[in-house]
Parts: sequence; C-alpha cells; structure tokens
Amino acid sequence: MKTFTLSPLKLMSLFIVIFSGSLQAKNYTIDHLEPLSWWNKMQSNKLQLMIHGQDISALTPKITHPDITIVNVNKVTNGNYLFLDLQLADTIKAGEYEIAFYRKNIKILSHNYLINDRNKNSAAATSFNGKDVIYLLTPDRFANGDVSNDNNKVLKEQSNRTKKGGRHGGDIQGIINNLSYLKEMGFTQIWPNPMIENNQANYSYHGYSATDFYKIDARFGSNELFKTLSKQAQLQGLGLIKDVVLNHIGDQHWWLKDLPTNDWLNFQDKTYTGTHHKRESLHDPHATEKDKTLFSDGWFVPSMPDLNQRNKYLSTYLIQNTLWWIEYANLSGIRVDTYSYPDKDFLTDWTKRITDEYPNINIVGEEWTTNPAHVAYWQRGKKTHDNYVSYLPSVMDFPLQASLINGLKNQDSWSTGLIQLYQAIANDFQYADPYNLVTFADNHDMSRIYTQLDEDFALYKMVMSYLLTTRGIPQVFYGTEILMSNAGTEDHGVIRTDFPGGWLGDTSNAFTGKGLTAKQLTAQQYMKKLLNWRKTSKAIHQGKLTHFAPNNGIYVYFRTFETETVMIVMNKNKEDTLINTNDYQSLINDNIFATDVMTNESFSLNQPILLEKQSVKIWQLNKNVE
Ligand code: CA
Repeated sequence: MKTFTLSPLKLMSLFIVIFSGSLQAKNYTIDHLEPLSWWNKMQSNKLQLMIHGQDISALTPKITHPDITIVNVNKVTNGNYLFLDLQLADTIKAGEYEIAFYRKNIKILSHNYLINDRNKNSAAATSFNGKDVIYLLTPDRFANGDVSNDNNKVLKEQSNRTKKGGRHGGDIQGIINNLSYLKEMGFTQIWPNPMIENNQANYSYHGYSATDFYKIDARFGSNELFKTLSKQAQLQGLGLIKDVVLNHIGDQHWWLKDLPTNDWLNFQDKTYTGTHHKRESLHDPHATEKDKTLFSDGWFVPSMPDLNQRNKYLSTYLIQNTLWWIEYANLSGIRVDTYSYPDKDFLTDWTKRITDEYPNINIVGEEWTTNPAHVAYWQRGKKTHDNYVSYLPSVMDFPLQASLINGLKNQDSWSTGLIQLYQAIANDFQYADPYNLVTFADNHDMSRIYTQLDEDFALYKMVMSYLLTTRGIPQVFYGTEILMSNAGTEDHGVIRTDFPGGWLGDTSNAFTGKGLTAKQLTAQQYMKKLLNWRKTSKAIHQGKLTHFAPNNGIYVYFRTFETETVMIVMNKNKEDTLINTNDYQSLINDNIFATDVMTNESFSLNQPILLEKQSVKIWQLNKNVE
C-alpha cells in the first residue's frame, strides 16, 4: 500500500495491481483528484471531489476521520469517475485526511487529502474598484524572465519567436521581474490573459483553450510561482486578477480522452456545431428556441469544445475551481471570458457561490456588444425584463469603448461625433452600477488604440485622459503606454507583439526607455503622470460624474467627491477655442481657481479660458490659490 500527498505540481498516478483468482491483472489508479486541496472556515462546508482513474468506481471510498463525512458517492456513465460529496465539520483542522478506496474489505488505494487553514482575511478582502487602473497583459508576450521554461518536452508546442501565433517565451517570472515598472507607472492591478495549461498543438499562447484547470502552464511557470506573483505584486500595491473561462476548453483537455458523461459537452459526439454569436437571441422576445440554444451550446471554434454547465457535476467543478484559485493565490478579482455564452442559470449559481464566499470580490464579465441593454443585463442589481438574477458585480464597457473612438474620430453632427460619447454616458441609466464597469480603449482582441486612432498623438492623449477620468475602472492594454500599434493588419499575433525589453537582446527597452522614440517616451511620461495623479484623486475614484451636453466641439464633465472637484474639459476642435467658465458655474460653485494636474499650473476661473486644440484638460478646482 502506498500513500502519497497530492501536490499541485506533481499529480501522481498511483497503480496497484491485484491478481484475481484467474490471474488476470486489474489496475486501479487515481489519475486526477480535484480540487487539489481545500480550506476550512469556508462559508459552505460542502465539497465535491472529482476522482478520475482506471475503474475507480468499482472501489468504495471511505474516510474514517469524524471531521469529514462522505455524504454521497456518485457514479456516472463512465466508470473511471467518482464524484464524492463531502461534508466538512465546522471545526475541521488543517491537515491531511485519508481517503481510502476499498474493494470488498481490502484497501486498494489511498489518498491523503489536504485541508488548509483559510487565509484569515480572504472572506473580507477588498477587490479592484474605481481607485484602480488595470494593466492587461498577454503573459507570453510581456517578458521572458526564465528562458529555461521556453521549451518543455512534455508539452506539445515549443517556443518560436518568429511565429506570430506561436509561443514567444514570456512567463510569470517576466512579470515578477517587472512589477516595479508597473508600480512606478501607476498601475494598481494586473490582469494577465489565462495562464493555466493550454497543451494544444498550436495557437494556444493566449491561454483560452485550457487543458488542465488546476495547473499553471509549465511554459509560464508553476502554481507556486503564480502564487508568488500574487504575493510579490501585493507587496508593490498591485492586485492580481485571474482570467477565467467557463464556456469552453481546449480539445486537448484530458477530459476529452475519457469524458465523464455523455452530456459533459454540448453537441458531444455530434457533427461540429458552432455558436452563431447572436447574443441578442437570449433576450429577444421574437427569438426561436433554436437560436437561443445555438448561441449558448454551439462551440466557440472547432478547437474549443463547449462545456455543458447544466451537468451538475461540471457546474460544481467549475464553481469550486474558481474558489480554489481565489483562495490559493489570494486573487484580487476575476475576469470572465465570453461571459454570456455558458448556461444562464449556471452563471447565476457560479456568481452566487463566488460572491457568497467572497462578498467584496469584484468579477468582471466580457459581453462583447456595443448595445448597453445587453451588457447591463448581466450586472448584479439590474431589474431584468425576464426576472433573471445575476450576482456579477461588473461588466466590460464595450459600448463606451466604441463610443469613445466614434466620438473623437467622427465629424460632429446631429448624431455623430462627441454626441456619441455623451449618449454613451447618458445610457448609464440602464446599468445597476455604471461606476463599477471596467472601461478600456482597446484590449487583446481588437486593434490597438493607437492604430484605431490612425496614430494621431493628440487623439491618443485625449482618449487616455478621458479613460482615466470618466466613471468606471479603467483597463489599459500592455504597450499602450509606448504607442504599440498594429498598422496594416488585424492579426492578433501582431496586436499582441512582444513588449520591447522583455527579451534579452531586444534593441529597445520600454522598462528603461532605451531605444524608444521621442514620441514613445512622451507618451510613457504622459501616462505615468496621469496614472500617478489618478492614484491621489478620490473624486476620480468614487466621485459623482456630471456632464454637460457637448457644444461646438467642447465636452465638459466633472467628478465631485466631498470637497474635491475635478473639472475635465475636452476640446475636439482643430483650433484653439475660448470657453466661458460661467457656462459651467453650477458645478464650479465657489471654486475660483484651477490647477492643471498635468502641468501643475494654477490660474483663475473668473475669466474666459483658451483651450489648446484637440486636447483634454484636467483641472483640480480650488477655493484658494494653492
Ligand atoms: Ca520563458
């Protein structure tokens, strides 16, 4: 009899050979036992283990310790799986608890299950919010901190930096090495694209085709290193947001070789059926059932099988997996990929369980549509037309992203130009909490903002200034601060270009400034100044947003909190423009002076002010000269 402790790193396979009377060999194994570990003092005392191994269902599991009770032993179609419902005692102590597997009265297998002490503050931990700015980065493309993990014999795809869609060697160590850069720039949260194992033959550097939910990809590092990243980031005042995919997996996921049930996947064993991506069908009073089903159950792409979260074991698995990573790595929040694509009722259960365990956690869902009605539907507190209940705190603000670009690029008219940006904010009545939306100018799935703005530097500064002063929690895509672009192509491999300086021998280095153009350095300094000022402004973090209807190419809005007032003035005109501050007196109140937060110049508001063409000015208002 061999007893072992399952470490997150070394998922060991245990073989015991028993000879029956006829001398036929029978192998029993535990190949997977998940969650890998658990914690005491969780809000729920229930835990369901998925155990996978050769003929495991032919064995009877037993736990003799009184603090863990096996409530149910669930068998499914595939005899290589067991789902154990466990009940943990309120007083259960951290330690290893033996789960023994018997055949008749003979102990065949044994596994010591680890219960840890829950982190003292995890239930009350704060999450990302309006005071934060999120730095979104693609780990394979940010910095290669450990060349020894670039290639891995066990994993299918080897590194090749010349391939746009290949693996370039960036990793967790690369992020750790550059945390001080992110801190000094003024970012406060990091959202890396997913880093769990994607052992696909090709094109999986992005991380969205999971092949193991409990293992960090060895080309990025290890579970332990991911935890270290979170710890090191926190020491620099940076939170770590984990990117989670609930909708699909990679077709090389280990489940695919031995599926637990015949309904684990949608369209399992059927001809490939893709989603039509028509999210409108979920809410459309005129939609057919066929269209609704096709949206949720169709596969995202042929290499990404669609998970059927209506299967209760899978649903529990996904919920526990998210809880596991939050607790294991002390995460500051969650971003959910393709949020609307999984089963809707599952999303209610998933968001409820996560927020029951972590009442303050922020979770942002990706619902890629420019229609605010569809985005607002998913946010917690929204009164929905079909009484759907969601516990999702935040949603990505795709409508504002599009309106920001249109607002600045389109010629002003009755219905185009700045009016589009104004309307996007006016649409906030549809959201339960517009201040908790995550705002952005671009992300890893679209053209870089500098390219979207046709490399117009004045517009770039306007967009970034707007993003960092309007309501919401801004997210900035890595490289935006040095004007990274993808001119002439929409290739995602180019959009997610290697960050200069992340690789030994790079000719330019954004971390040190070496080899950057004057314009890149100006952009980086601009962002640094703005981000660090933003850190100090409660009006921006939590102040009320009030805006005036745009007029003659001028758009003015305020952020106000207690005694702090910030006035933001956007001049879209291609010539310097004079404004009369009396037009904004109702918000200026008794503030007589303003200080430009970018230049630190102070001036009187009791006079017309000449605004530089195509610029955004951010003014901290004062009753007295400072
Ligand atoms: Ca590497």
